[in-house]
Amino acid sequence: MILKQLVVGPLATNCYIVGSESSKEGMIIDPGDEAEVILRNAKDLGLEIRSIVLTHGHIDHIGALKEVKEATGAEVAIHTDEAKSLQRQSSSTLLGLSYPIPPPPDRLLKDGDSMDIGDRHFLVLHTPGHSPGCICLLGEGIIFSGDTLFNYGIGRTDLPGGSYDQLMNSIQTKLMILPDNTAVYPGHGPDTTIGAERSGNPFLQT
Ligand SMILES: [Zn+2]
Ligand SMILES: [Zn+2]
Repeated sequence: MILKQLVVGPLATNCYIVGSESSKEGMIIDPGDEAEVILRNAKDLGLEIRSIVLTHGHIDHIGALKEVKEATGAEVAIHTDEAKSLQRQSSSTLLGLSYPIPPPPDRLLKDGDSMDIGDRHFLVLHTPGHSPGCICLLGEGIIFSGDTLFNYGIGRTDLPGGSYDQLMNSIQTKLMILPDNTAVYPGHGPDTTIGAERSGNPFLQT
């Protein structure tokens, strides 16, 4: 699997470019900002970008969506509970940022769906809490956790639609059931593993 992590925008959002070595098809997760950097990296990796997946609709994860969508023609996918906020936020200044109005999504995701990139399959896990339609993407031994789980941290729950109880429930029932050696690539900050978070994340200790 091809995997490239880019840190973009003023809130240092992790944008991931994931690709299949055999088919050279690619997927962009959370094009938060700096469209030209994302597009250049995708090109350098030799990938044909087929889909853009949003772990959720917060502005710091979708700031470059319009430009990346227009440049690639890729399908935009977001959880069905998040699609409305994507449009509503277009006129707001959540987190003090503004951004070009994104196109409407092409595909609405639900828990259990599969995002396929060539021979690679990623299972959509609905993990509400940070926002209502947050998702994580689970591949073979790897999970993209968006703003649900961070390296020794969890997503904030004080933004509209956030719920601490839901977030903890999502983490416990969807993520902490995964094997210790599952690599975790979050929406902000360094990568980690499920095992490291299980044993050391201060929010998960009882
Ligand atoms: Zn967020
Ligand atoms: Zn974020």
